[in-house]
Amino acid sequence: MALVTTKEMFAKAYDGGYAIGAFNVNNMEIVQGITEAASELRSPVILQVSKGARAYANHTYLVKLVEAAITENPDLPVALHLDHGDSFELCKSCIDGGFTSVMIDMSSKPFEENIEVTRQVVEYAHAHGVVVEAELGTLEGVEDEVVVEAGQASYTRPEEVEEFVSRTGCDSLAIAIGTSHGAYKFRPEQCTRNEDGILVPPPLRFDVLEEVTKRLPGFPIVLHGSSSVPQEFVEMVNAYGGNMPNAIGIPEDQLRQAAKSAVCKINIDSDIRLAMTANIRKYLAEHPDHFDPRQYLKPARQAVKDMVARKIVNVLGSDGKF
Ligand SMILES: [Zn+2]
Repeated sequence: MALVTTKEMFAKAYDGGYAIGAFNVNNMEIVQGITEAASELRSPVILQVSKGARAYANHTYLVKLVEAAITENPDLPVALHLDHGDSFELCKSCIDGGFTSVMIDMSSKPFEENIEVTRQVVEYAHAHGVVVEAELGTLEGVEDEVVVEAGQASYTRPEEVEEFVSRTGCDSLAIAIGTSHGAYKFRPEQCTRNEDGILVPPPLRFDVLEEVTKRLPGFPIVLHGSSSVPQEFVEMVNAYGGNMPNAIGIPEDQLRQAAKSAVCKINIDSDIRLAMTANIRKYLAEHPDHFDPRQYLKPARQAVKDMVARKIVNVLGSDGKF
C-alpha cells in the first residue's frame, strides 16, 4: 500500500468512535517502533514530521524511512503529515515532497489572517490530492519551534468554527480544550493532589468540544499535546540520573473519552521521547562498559513500540481497524 490521506481514516474513526494516533518521527528507530506496533495491532497510523524534525533529520531521509516502513508493512495504512506548518511555503514544500497531509498553524495570528493563509494552503493542497489540518485556539507549552507562554493560551471559541471551516475548506480542525505541548503541561499550582500525593491536572473542557461538534457535525477534530507523561517513566528517568521534577500530562482516561467523540486524531510525542530516554538512561546505567549505539537503541526502539501499542489499545481504540 502506498501512503494514504487521512480522509478515509477519519471517516471510519468518526463513525467507529475511536481516534487515529499521530506520532512524531525523527529517526529510524522511532519509525520502526511506531509502524511495528501499528502493524501488529492492525491500527491505521499517522506519521508526522515537524519543522524541527526536518531540520534535524532532513526531509529526504524522513520520507525514505517512511517509504521503507511501508515496504516492510505492506498492509498498514500510513499517512505522512506535516505537523505545525508555519507558512504556505513550508506546506507547499511538503506537498511537493510526497506528504499526504499538512497542517497549517496560523492559530497565533488574527482570525482573518488565519483564514487567508489556511485558504491558500487548502487550495494548493487539494489541487495535489493532499488534505489540510488547521487550528483555532492556542495551546500552552513548547513543541520544537512552537512556544506559547503560560497565560497566552486560549480555548477555541466555538462561535468561530463554522465560519472558519466554511471559508477555508480545511479537512480537519485542531482545537484547544486544555491539552498542552511538552512534558510539563501544567504547573503544580494549577493542579490538585490525590490521596497518594500525585498531581492531578485540571480536566479537559469537554463542554467546548461538545459545542464545536454541535456546530460541525461529522467534521474531524484534532487534539494536539496529548501525551500523558506516565509517572513510571518519569521515575525511571529520575532514578537513573535524570531530573524531571513535576513533569505532568493529560490522564489517559480523559483522552480515551475524547477518542470516542468527534476527535479523530490525537497527537502523541512527549510520551515516546520519555519512554526512549528512560530506557536509554537505564540501559547505560546498568551497562557502564557498553558503547555500541545498537546496544542501547535496541531497548529504546522496543520502548517506542510498547508505548505506541499502549496508546493504540488504551487511548485511541484503533486496534483491529484495518
Ligand atoms: Zn502540536
